[in-house]
Amino acid sequence: MPLKRLAILVIAALLIVMVLGLGYATNREVEMIVRQQSNEQQMLLTRQSAAGIEAFLDEKTVLIEVLATEVVDVPPENMTPYFMTVYNKSIGFSSIGFVSSNGVIVTGYPPEDAAIGLDLYATKRNAQFDRARANKETYTTRPVPLVQGGVGSNIGVPIYSGGEFKGVVFAVIEISTLSARFLADTVPKGHGHTYMITSSGRCLYDGTHRGIISEKYIGLFCENNSSYADVLRDQMPGDEGVGYYFDENTGKRMVVTYTPVVWRGRIWSVATTVPESEAEVLVRSVYRKQILFVTIVIAIILAGSGGIVLILSRWNRDLEKEVVRKTNDLGMSNMELASANTRLKELDRLKSEFVSMVSHELKTPLTSMKISMDVLKSLSGSEKDADTENEMFQIIDRSVERQNRLVGDLLDISRIETGNLKLNLEPVDLYEIILESTESMKKIADEQGIPIHIDLDCESIQITGDHDRLVQVFVNLIENALKFTEKGKIHIQARTVDGHPEIRVSDTGIGIPPGELDLIFDKFHQVDSGLTREVGGTGLGLAICKGIIEGHGGRIRAESKVGEGSTFVIVL
Ligand code: ADP
Repeated sequence: MPLKRLAILVIAALLIVMVLGLGYATNREVEMIVRQQSNEQQMLLTRQSAAGIEAFLDEKTVLIEVLATEVVDVPPENMTPYFMTVYNKSIGFSSIGFVSSNGVIVTGYPPEDAAIGLDLYATKRNAQFDRARANKETYTTRPVPLVQGGVGSNIGVPIYSGGEFKGVVFAVIEISTLSARFLADTVPKGHGHTYMITSSGRCLYDGTHRGIISEKYIGLFCENNSSYADVLRDQMPGDEGVGYYFDENTGKRMVVTYTPVVWRGRIWSVATTVPESEAEVLVRSVYRKQILFVTIVIAIILAGSGGIVLILSRWNRDLEKEVVRKTNDLGMSNMELASANTRLKELDRLKSEFVSMVSHELKTPLTSMKISMDVLKSLSGSEKDADTENEMFQIIDRSVERQNRLVGDLLDISRIETGNLKLNLEPVDLYEIILESTESMKKIADEQGIPIHIDLDCESIQITGDHDRLVQVFVNLIENALKFTEKGKIHIQARTVDGHPEIRVSDTGIGIPPGELDLIFDKFHQVDSGLTREVGGTGLGLAICKGIIEGHGGRIRAESKVGEGSTFVIVL
């Protein structure tokens, strides 16, 4: 059983290890998923911002292209109202103007911001202008510092009338307008920031470092060989991706998701950067739930295995008790068997003794009769003598009587044992029975010289009983008393005790050893003494007495002191 308990504990330990292992593996997986999800979410925000900027720039470009078609045939001095209308109806333009074919800004709105009179050739800003004229295509410029401050990009749409180049309708889009609309609120405050750079790594917007607009990040903001520089280099060509860098200012590892903004061949990159610890918060919350779950599972495993061990222990105890009980029962059965065996052996011995005793008892009177008859036959007429003849007849008579008694006793004991002892119950006087019994034994008592005293405390005790059988009992007791008493007296006492007749037959004979007091009432049992052997007997007398007394609803017992005498007590 302890082996079973050990097995359960080992299984429980294995289960716990398994649960812990699974918990750990799940945690790693969940952490990965949470980080991935968090990156994807960050990427979505970045894409959203980039898509917003792209759509905005496209819309503004198309608007200027439409405006250009509208003013194809309008003389420059009349263009201002057109420009004003578009400027006022659409936000995002810092100015809209017209460069005449000779590269001078001739008109614009609002006039103060349009740099009217600026000569592109004179200020060496003519490269895009020339390209537009040659290619007849809309151009965009890289963000440049604006006269009115900030940075902005130019959209330029060449216009031709009747195949003749008339000039370029241009509009300036201030980058801060874009950033305010699409980048400022991408990441909630305190959880990271957004920035936008050009393909050469110049800053167009930075949610935390506004002051570095149009500066290059690498070199100013981070070392050339830093992890941030690597991320910036990855995003500058206009790729989309996720990068990690260590922010030395905050001491935090940052996750950057970047995606390109493509605008008429110009490529910028929008990026959001968030501390990696942001995802950590989510991961930790999942960890906490996982740990709680694992703890509960382990507790259930421990409680379950503990319960099973307890049940097994209880079973074990019950089984042990059962085994002890069965062993005891077996021991008892063995003892009973042993004692039954002893009794059987004893019965076998008694049976042998009985056969030998009965044979002897039957043979003795037969022998006496045979001898007596032989004597009678041998006596010739003259020798016949009346005394001898008489003596022989008496011997024959006694022998017949003795055999008769033996057979009678055997029949009685058989009736008692089979429950067939018939009692002829009638009102009888116990005193008369005692007197009658004593009378019949008087002759023998006189011959032995042993007086019989009768001590009766009143004149009669009336009972219901079988007269002859009760006489048989008392005769037997007096006979035994005379048999086992050599000198002294026999005392018969009768009185009523607690409403019951009690008769005591006492002698001053050899007495009975204490261990034999109950046994002498068993059939064929005789106390093994010289006198018993000498006086003979069958060992049936007291068994018959007991049967008769108990048949009357009474009890018989013996009291004795060896050497001082015996008393047989009958309570009816
Ligand atoms: P039996 O007298 O024929 O042997 P009983 O059944 O009458 O058979 O007695 C059984 C035995 O009890 C006797 O053999 C004897 O050993 C013992 N016993 C009976 N009565 C007395 C007595 N009064 N004193 C001593 N021993 C007795």
